[in-house]
Amino acid sequence: MRAVQINNTGGPGQMRVADVATPEPTEGEVLVRLEAAGVNFIDVYYRLGRYPLALPATLGVEASGTVESVGVGVTDFVRGDRVAYAMVPGAYADAAVVPAGRLVPVPDGLEATKAAAVLLQGMTAHFLATSTVPLAEGDRVLIHAAAGGVGLLLTQVAKRCGATVYATVSTDEKAELARAAGADEVIIYSREPFTDAVTSLTDGSGVDVVYDGVGKDTFDDGLASLRPRGHMVLYGQASGPVPPVDPQRLNTGGSLYLTRPTLAHYVAGRDELLQRAGDVLRWVRDGELDVRIGETHPLEDAAVAHERLEARQTTGKVLLVP
Ligand code: NDP
Repeated sequence: MRAVQINNTGGPGQMRVADVATPEPTEGEVLVRLEAAGVNFIDVYYRLGRYPLALPATLGVEASGTVESVGVGVTDFVRGDRVAYAMVPGAYADAAVVPAGRLVPVPDGLEATKAAAVLLQGMTAHFLATSTVPLAEGDRVLIHAAAGGVGLLLTQVAKRCGATVYATVSTDEKAELARAAGADEVIIYSREPFTDAVTSLTDGSGVDVVYDGVGKDTFDDGLASLRPRGHMVLYGQASGPVPPVDPQRLNTGGSLYLTRPTLAHYVAGRDELLQRAGDVLRWVRDGELDVRIGETHPLEDAAVAHERLEARQTTGKVLLVP
């Protein structure tokens, strides 16, 4: 089978399609024939070596497909079941072995591509808006990079919770997408300081929550955009890691809260995984959550997908299809 591997960390050119033996599922594992793999910013961090990774490695942590065989002790899945998963390495490939406890069923009526497109980023939007800070009617939130994979979904889930969404994006085309996802106001932060826009939109009082997946370039101004006792939810670092923060900054900013959440801790138990995944996949199937597949590439073009993601040229979800 084919797998997109890296032997060394570095630029997109490090990725090569290798011919590797199809793995056998051992106890508690399932072999899944993959139909689509999600491209996520975390794949870039792994490729760059920002997160630890044993080499050589097959990139990708999200996919959907069909169960081909199961290992000893697997009772929840049988050959032919349609499944999806997130946060398990090795997804840029024709097939992958996945612990059964990390698989979720894909509901009837939902295409495999949509399941792969929404699972990781949709569950992220779900936990950010319903668990990290459970949003309520009337909350005012600032969502950075709102036309991205997480951004479009988080905007929709925040609206579903009753929040007022101020979205930032870098281009007019992205502004249109953020508006279509439900953003109440869109700020083109490549053209004007988003702090000025937030001051004017909130009459100087600041927003309740900042959702920041951009990191280095937006973090400080995000803190300055919060109301006293507001929440900074730093969930990513697309522009680079945020330098260390002096806790005193939270005091002077108005007794602010800072959290750096990650999906793994919000789907750690099987019940929580099934509940979040179940909500997200059902919402998409029932037309309550729109997942925009911005572009699809063959495995051979994984480098193109990464180049475009890093260069801010993508919108919504990027998929690889074996
Ligand atoms: P996106 O599709 O959102 O792509 C990243 C976007 O970030 C770009 O399109 C761009 O939007 C914006 N951006 C701003 N500055 C830069 C920069 N210097 N380089 C690149 N992009 C920049 O990616 P994802 O949806 O996959 O991920 C979004 C964020 O969410 C990432 O930080 C990711 O790590 C994080 N994440 C965190 C999870 C968690 O569990 N904590 C889970 C999933 C994702 P624009 O042009 O509008 O500025």
